Amino acid sequence: MDIQLIEKTNISMQLVIRGVDVPFMNALRRIMMAEVPSMAVDDVVFIENSSVLHDEVLAHRLGLVPLVTDLDSYNLPEKCTCKSEFGCNLCRVTLTLEAEASESITTIYTGDLKSEDPHITPVSDKIPLVKLAPGQKIKLEAYARLGTEMVHAKWQPVSVCAYKYLPQINIDEKLCNACEECVKICSKKVLVRDENKIVPKNTIECTLCQDCVKVCSSPPAINVAWSDDSYVFNIETDEVLPPERIVLEALNILNRKIDDLLGQLTTKNELLH
Ligand SMILES: [Zn+2]
Repeated sequence: MDIQLIEKTNISMQLVIRGVDVPFMNALRRIMMAEVPSMAVDDVVFIENSSVLHDEVLAHRLGLVPLVTDLDSYNLPEKCTCKSEFGCNLCRVTLTLEAEASESITTIYTGDLKSEDPHITPVSDKIPLVKLAPGQKIKLEAYARLGTEMVHAKWQPVSVCAYKYLPQINIDEKLCNACEECVKICSKKVLVRDENKIVPKNTIECTLCQDCVKVCSSPPAINVAWSDDSYVFNIETDEVLPPERIVLEALNILNRKIDDLLGQLTTKNELLH
């Protein structure tokens, strides 16, 4: 197995993974989406709400606010030592919101939420929560906890998590007359003319649409194929966790599942003999 980092920002990452098969890639993709925990508001206590949004609508909006996640300091409530429904400092973070519109219509943003832990805050201060007319007021306490997408989509740490086969483009120089029809038709600008020949420039962007093959003279000089054991993996987060941490967590979870399976098989084997 070989991993090549193509591009990385604080919210996205592109990798080329070679020497694996589809079931492995799919396991990794599904674990990243559904089993890597992230922080989200799960309970809200309203003390006052005279806004036009009903309590449950506002609570739902709060639940969908992406929160910066700290996987090292917090436990999943079901695995926390407190074993309490109410949670403790290791499995719950309280955010409070108190706002009132005085003379004009006021928009309340995620930046108005006050968190008891300065490390667990909304990823952006500029997500609108509700608009208040003069005299309207909101006072609430929201409790955030770690969870997984298997329970609710608000805990999904990735917004994009997809792979495709690594494209392979071959151009037969003997058949190619460098007419540039393929260069013009490619929406991803994969091909370029270099002096008297056409060359693939950014193969990784190819979507395997075959438009360049169809537009080429007959027999086509271009062959677009893909590698059976190499994949381009694109990951984009909503900033709750760095993309590389999500990949590492997913691999740890996959490792634990394999260890668990191995442990169970070993026990069964001992019982059988
Ligand atoms: Zn706890």
